[in-house]
Amino acid sequence: HYKTNSFISYPITIGGRKVGVLNVTDKAGGRTFDEVDLGLLDIIGPQVALALERAEWQERATEFQLMSITDPLTALPNRRYLEERLMEELNRSRRYYYPMSFLMIDIDDFKAYNDKNGHQAGDVALQITAHCLKGGLRSADVASRYGGEEFCILLPQTGISEAGAIADRIRQRVSTTQFPHGKTQPLGRVTISIGVSTFSTLVNTSENIIAAADRALYEAKNMGKNRVVFFGEEGGQ
Ligand code: GH3
Ligand code: MG
Ligand code: MG
Repeated sequence: HYKTNSFISYPITIGGRKVGVLNVTDKAGGRTFDEVDLGLLDIIGPQVALALERAEWQERATEFQLMSITDPLTALPNRRYLEERLMEELNRSRRYYYPMSFLMIDIDDFKAYNDKNGHQAGDVALQITAHCLKGGLRSADVASRYGGEEFCILLPQTGISEAGAIADRIRQRVSTTQFPHGKTQPLGRVTISIGVSTFSTLVNTSENIIAAADRALYEAKNMGKNRVVFFGEEGGQ
């Protein structure tokens, strides 16, 4: 039912591809459009096309960027992102003497889980574990999939005792969560081990802090798994 005396429908093209139409209606004063108006659209049209094309690329670039830092299985950020963030946080800790802690997490006897229940069931278990990690964290904490069945969590502005409490909460959460084939595991349920390291004058680079957590994790495995061990606790730095 729309009525007007004046209407121009102007195609928007990007490299010969029609991507839209610019509709201009109701010329001021109720008059009809003329060649001068069309000339204006000849100037505006290509600029609209350019802006649209830019927006499209921007969107895709953001999408690609997100894809390159996200683990597709668990939707957690991946190791690439974690390492970037860890460096950033360490800079802050060095500058302002903020405490900062780091958890390295590994699923216990995960090879057995895969062998008994298949790789797909293993993938599901990884997703459930990731979910358990996310559930126990504050918004500033960064949980990531470090690789395989290893996860890590960056805890900014968190001292060792608070980190230990968070680690143990996560450990308990996993061990009390029902996994589809939890009963097939040696302990009768899916469990994780956690190594904890914390920023100090000795442990102050990303390599050091990761290695320290890794060493504590190794000790947690040695001590019987399903436990949290602090770096330094295992005797000697
Ligand atoms: P430990 O208690 O000492 O950690 O023993 P483990 O069996 O967990 O350790 P190991 O490193 O021997 O095995 C890790 C297993 O994790 C082997 C590999 O098949 C499995 N794994 C790694 N990445 C994936 C994945 O993306 N999907 C599945 N389903 N399994 C994975
Ligand atoms: Mg492992
Ligand atoms: Mg393991």
